[in-house]
Amino acid sequence: LAFEDANLCHTLNKNIAKAGYSKLTPVQKYSIPVILAGRDLMACAHTGSGKTAAFLLPIVAHMMRDGITATSFKEQQEPECIIVAPTRELINQIFLEARKFVYGTCIRPVVIYGGTQTGHSIRQVMQGCNILCATPGRLLDIIGREKIALHNVKYLVLDEADRMLDMGFGSDMKKLISYPSMTPKDQRQTLMFSATFPEEVQRLAREFLKTDYLFVV
Ligand code: AMP
Repeated sequence: LAFEDANLCHTLNKNIAKAGYSKLTPVQKYSIPVILAGRDLMACAHTGSGKTAAFLLPIVAHMMRDGITATSFKEQQEPECIIVAPTRELINQIFLEARKFVYGTCIRPVVIYGGTQTGHSIRQVMQGCNILCATPGRLLDIIGREKIALHNVKYLVLDEADRMLDMGFGSDMKKLISYPSMTPKDQRQTLMFSATFPEEVQRLAREFLKTDYLFVV
């Protein structure tokens, strides 16, 4: 299957071609239609499978269809999409991929992670943020400081869910999902990716995703 047949949009197809991708990888082939249809998804996929583009492309396509307007400097940002991954290397890769795909649009991705100055993360966020890529600890820190509001979140992605649990981020994920201001699950799309699918990840999926979520391997 070629990207031109994946029902994305013209700008995205141009950016995909510029990235040098021509054919969809298996996880992209199965995930993109499900996400475009507005459904929740739990996918088993590891790094190298093309899973990042599998969730970013349909999310960006939706955002462009919804007519996302440029965000500006504000004391509190209201991102439409939040992506969480366990390590700074991983979240940075996701951010770089997002930046490639939004080229030529006014969608602004931002990345924040621990081990850097919180003030730097806050400045990045406040300059405008549609897609927030974050590690769990730093994300909760910034939310706690009221620099990020959650009521506008339409897309929530939890990447490498098994690794997040292994690294002890289970309670952070639960805290994020159960924030009073977080969009309820029937009004947002939640996408989970995990290399393995042990009982604890299944439990998270049951808790975080809509009941009719799709499972792809
Ligand atoms: P990921 O599994 O998301 O970490 O992606 C692994 C690598 O494959 C990244 O360097 C991507 O840029 C690249 N990639 C993702 N999708 C495709 C594709 N359809 N064709 C060629 N390369 C891809």
